[in-house]
Amino acid sequence: MNKTIIIGGGVAGLSLAIALRKKGREVLVCEREERAHSNGHAFLIHPEAMRALNDIIETDPYHLMPGRKIDQLFLKNSDDVLLDEVDLEGWICMKRCEAMAALASQLPENVVRYGCQFSHFIMQDDHVVAAAFKNGEIQYGDVFIGADGARSAVRNKLFGPTNYTPVIVKEILGTIHNSALFERHPNHFTKYLSIDKGLAVGFIPCNDEELIWFMQFDVALQTSELDSPEAIAAFCKEVLKDFPSEVSEIMECNSVVANYIWNTTDFNMLPTFHHRNVLLIGDAAHLALPFTSAGVTNALLDVDCLISLWDEETEMEDMFRKFHMLRSPHIKGHVEMGRQIRASFLKGSGKEVRLPLIKDLEVLVQPV
Ligand SMILES: Cc1cc2nc3c(=O)[nH]c(=O)nc-3n(C[C@H](O)[C@H](O)[C@H](O)COP(=O)(O)OP(=O)(O)OC[C@H]3O[C@@H](n4cnc5c(N)ncnc54)[C@H](O)[C@@H]3O)c2cc1C
Repeated sequence: MNKTIIIGGGVAGLSLAIALRKKGREVLVCEREERAHSNGHAFLIHPEAMRALNDIIETDPYHLMPGRKIDQLFLKNSDDVLLDEVDLEGWICMKRCEAMAALASQLPENVVRYGCQFSHFIMQDDHVVAAAFKNGEIQYGDVFIGADGARSAVRNKLFGPTNYTPVIVKEILGTIHNSALFERHPNHFTKYLSIDKGLAVGFIPCNDEELIWFMQFDVALQTSELDSPEAIAAFCKEVLKDFPSEVSEIMECNSVVANYIWNTTDFNMLPTFHHRNVLLIGDAAHLALPFTSAGVTNALLDVDCLISLWDEETEMEDMFRKFHMLRSPHIKGHVEMGRQIRASFLKGSGKEVRLPLIKDLEVLVQPV
């Protein structure tokens, strides 16, 4: 049976499904969540990943994806002094839920099964023949892709528990409607960094009316439980009270609600991304800290690389080995870079400042 079962319908899973179908492969995506929901975060995507997406979906992703082009990054300290200004031509920011809906629209309805949480594999002769899901469904195939994100259950089944690094920085995110802020920064990524501690706040437009805001902080600054929207709002207002007026504008905005608390972590590169006929891609395969803004970009570059190697005549494990060989050096660099940027962030902008982005192309792409 030539059928690929993809576990996880995030950016990696959905874009791989689109690409494999274009190659004539039968594909099924099994996604834990019920149909796409409207909350969640937004992400910044590198232009090189948009180019990869263009190849994958064979249509202009800047038209399909409902994001906002971001052309400049302004990095300031908490005294409102400009530390750096960087051109970001071709970067785009989009809400996760809107991006997922746009990708899913490129697939027939019966290719994505929602409400399917992966449980375990069914094996025969050390090969997986089927994936079993907590709702009782069993899906048979010849290739299985773990695209189930940072806390991947597929990774856990293949390689045992993951050694995640301790959470020393958290990030709170939410969306706001604030037309004054939007009009002043229609295509800007603005970030304010504390002078003397690990604390930053920023905002980016993510569609034609909303901005995503985020606050990154050293966990040592957290003195109480963040267990309700009121507690989160009070904490943000307190720690950001000495920041410039634009930050107060966010905090005072009627629509300011935190949608997400991100306990940021990573793990060392895996020595392989596959076992027999099961391959990990995206965050399931590798995880970098948020400071690089490279997660979605890497998920799309994984798909682009895998598709360029995919050939029904090639022995599957050779293909998977080559995939690891090509992708892992670049991602290893991002994991390292994420740790370095976090170290400089924790010192405060008075001591050291690193750009919170993977910017250079040469660390992103590889010749295949
Ligand atoms: C708050 C936040 C902000 C971020 N900002 C950025 C940014 O600015 N730029 C950037 O590049 N990246 C950013 N990232 C990282 C980025 O979101 C991820 O790197 C990217 O989404 C990885 O794509 P993925 O498809 O591998 O995983 P995911 O997008 O996590 O998708 C995994 C999918 O698998 C599903 N799933 C999980 N477990 C199971 C299971 N057991 N069975 C079935 N399905 C399952 C999940 O529901 C999900 O839909 C951010 C992440 C967070 C959390």
